[in-house]
Amino acid sequence: MGRTVFRNANLLNGRNPSRPNTNLVVEGERIESVGKDVKPRAGDRVLDLAGRSLLPGLFSCHFHASFDGAQLAAFPLGMDQPPGYLMLRAAKNVRGALEGGFTSLVGAGGGDDIDAQLAQAIEDDLVRGPRLTPGSHDLGTTGGYVDLAGWWWRMGNTGTCRLADGVDEWRKTVREEIHRGARMIKIYASGGHGSEHTGRSQFSPEELCAVVETAHQRGARVRAHVCWKPQILECIAAGVDVIDHGDEIDAEIIDAMLEKRTVWVPSALYLEKLLNFPELQNPEFAELRTAAQRELDNILRRVVEAQAAGVCIVPGDDYGVAFLPHGNYAEELEFYVKRAGVSPLEVLGWATANGAAMVGVEDELGDLAPGKLADLIVVDGDPSADISILSDPKRLLAVVKGGRFERDLPAN
Ligand SMILES: [Zn+2]
Repeated sequence: MGRTVFRNANLLNGRNPSRPNTNLVVEGERIESVGKDVKPRAGDRVLDLAGRSLLPGLFSCHFHASFDGAQLAAFPLGMDQPPGYLMLRAAKNVRGALEGGFTSLVGAGGGDDIDAQLAQAIEDDLVRGPRLTPGSHDLGTTGGYVDLAGWWWRMGNTGTCRLADGVDEWRKTVREEIHRGARMIKIYASGGHGSEHTGRSQFSPEELCAVVETAHQRGARVRAHVCWKPQILECIAAGVDVIDHGDEIDAEIIDAMLEKRTVWVPSALYLEKLLNFPELQNPEFAELRTAAQRELDNILRRVVEAQAAGVCIVPGDDYGVAFLPHGNYAEELEFYVKRAGVSPLEVLGWATANGAAMVGVEDELGDLAPGKLADLIVVDGDPSADISILSDPKRLLAVVKGGRFERDLPAN
């Protein structure tokens, strides 16, 4: 691969204010240099961006690749089609994310070890897709939040869900998931987030500690679907790396997150879309609607507070459910700017530097600096002034992953 020189770029790394008239050189799969005066060499591909923005490739950090049109009804997820079909669906969804400027995804749970196999296929260049940190099954306890199949069904395949109980079973389950390729273990530590509204604990503190310790011993991280305050605090205390949803977040939880450097994925666009879903207007869902509204209001109120305190917040949501289809992942960034009052630059930081930190690749990705992997996007306009630009496919002009153009600049 020869060198590519991007000239006259408005450089935007998600942390610093934009740097106009900057040049960036990509050599092979990495960024070689960044600066005002970079001299192209003979044989370089020179692209004059004429002031368009150059950003790091974006992260979406809560991704269910194989979901499509999942319904509210209590039915085991991942049972709607056979595994081969689900894999093709997942491949389509991750390719769409890549073409939309999301060069890194973090799995948030799925069946049939699809994430791990898909990540391998992408790495081997069998299919095109972003860098994918594979999620595990949706791990829960017997009779808990993800145990949706009637016990009398006596099912062999349990779709996305996998159950375990007790410290020894949890150690074995986590080891098996990692052996099958998962790098982000997903547990369901409470109900909530627009679903069953109850404060019930799903894991004992000993089980939580066993999950975290086992995962960390083998180089994996742990994320927890957890919504109620007591369970959120239990998860943080046990060393869970990522809190998904965290609907009852408050000042005490923010302090605990800061102390343990816990990452937060508010994923509140799901709640907004759920509340506007026509099916949810039926009287039978009145209680759920009230709970979802309260959860949404609290998250939107606390996001700015958590951001100001220094919590590592990342984007990513439950795309693939009936009311939030896969596709426009940048809509979420716009949502937090418009509904929560986070600045565009801050949400760009969520989708770049913070995403990389969540999966421990901050030395490689999430910034535009010499030596980093060349994952970058070219955008017409300045997203730090108007974040909605990122939701407009016509304004996303190029996507580069590891120095390779996944979507090339239009010929003038
Ligand atoms: Zn999810």
